[in-house]
Amino acid sequence: MTESTRYAAEIVEPVEARGETVLDCIGWTPLLELKRLARAAGVPESARILAKAEHFNPGGSVKDRLALALIEDAEARGLPAGGTIVEATSGNTGISLAMAAAVKGYRLQVVASTKVSQEKLRLLRALGAEVHVTPNVPHGDPRHYTAVAKRLAAEIPGAVYLDQFHSPVNARIHEERTGPEILGQALRAAGRLDAFVCGVGTGGTFAGIASYLRRESPDTRIVLADPEGSVLAGAPDFRPYLVEGIGDDSTPPLFDPSLVDESVTVSDRESFRFALLAARLEGLIVGGSSGSHLAAAAEVARRLGPGAVVATVLPDTGRNYLTKFFDPAWCQEHGLTDLHREVAR
Ligand code: PMP
Repeated sequence: MTESTRYAAEIVEPVEARGETVLDCIGWTPLLELKRLARAAGVPESARILAKAEHFNPGGSVKDRLALALIEDAEARGLPAGGTIVEATSGNTGISLAMAAAVKGYRLQVVASTKVSQEKLRLLRALGAEVHVTPNVPHGDPRHYTAVAKRLAAEIPGAVYLDQFHSPVNARIHEERTGPEILGQALRAAGRLDAFVCGVGTGGTFAGIASYLRRESPDTRIVLADPEGSVLAGAPDFRPYLVEGIGDDSTPPLFDPSLVDESVTVSDRESFRFALLAARLEGLIVGGSSGSHLAAAAEVARRLGPGAVVATVLPDTGRNYLTKFFDPAWCQEHGLTDLHREVAR
């Protein structure tokens, strides 16, 4: 056997062990230590930022585990073969659902707002989903994407509205899978976990992981990372902001504020600056909410000081935003003056 055939023989088995379809490749994402980013953010040498790289999921985001679990739940409740699924999404749940629906043979109708990037809408269509785009209006407006999704599901005979905003499956899947993955990986890598930092969109990721950590690692501080403009960290008034996927104008049903030990508010500029730093310093192409999480994680690590171990989540791939904050012209147009120049220095 030559060196290269020996290599092939060795790698074939773990690849096959992952399973038959793309859905078998969901989860068990790596927990990466971001040393260069931590030093650039002024985190002490011995403190560590660990990031759960959810963009390694085949659908490119933290929503893959959820999408599969939501469809399996709908199947258990009688979703017929070839049936229609409807969902309201800021894009990533839709992409994960479209991937799973393709493999399982369901039709998918997705409702998203105009805030959602063109890249995500194109991915949805590429995966075979039918996409409805609604104006970016507050909750309560009949044109809000969740209201439109609910109406659409009622109009299509036999259609099932998955409703990630209310489904108990959403928090449960992260409590059963993502939480244990993070804690196990952090303990193997660093022997302890002092803080966990995460934002809230539907709140499923936060609620699931935070509940698990409360139970299994009660000394871990739970930190909410919230965009400036969102009301979840206690701001009195909502103001639109650019980061996609986290924060809101009202408290989502799955978000339990009693799980929060402290909140860190992050501006659009800091969020995108950290996402750009992740690309330049760590080779990681991640989205704006990953930047919010990293900015908040760095603040917590600086405050906790030497030896601290802080974990967070990188919810999605930055390939969703190449025409947005990765584009210097887009940043200039949106008031993020000279952001790219600042990061390049
Ligand atoms: N980041 C991005 C980019 C997202 O799309 C979402 C989902 N809305 C989140 C973070 C937050 O995840 P969750 O819905 O579980 O709170």
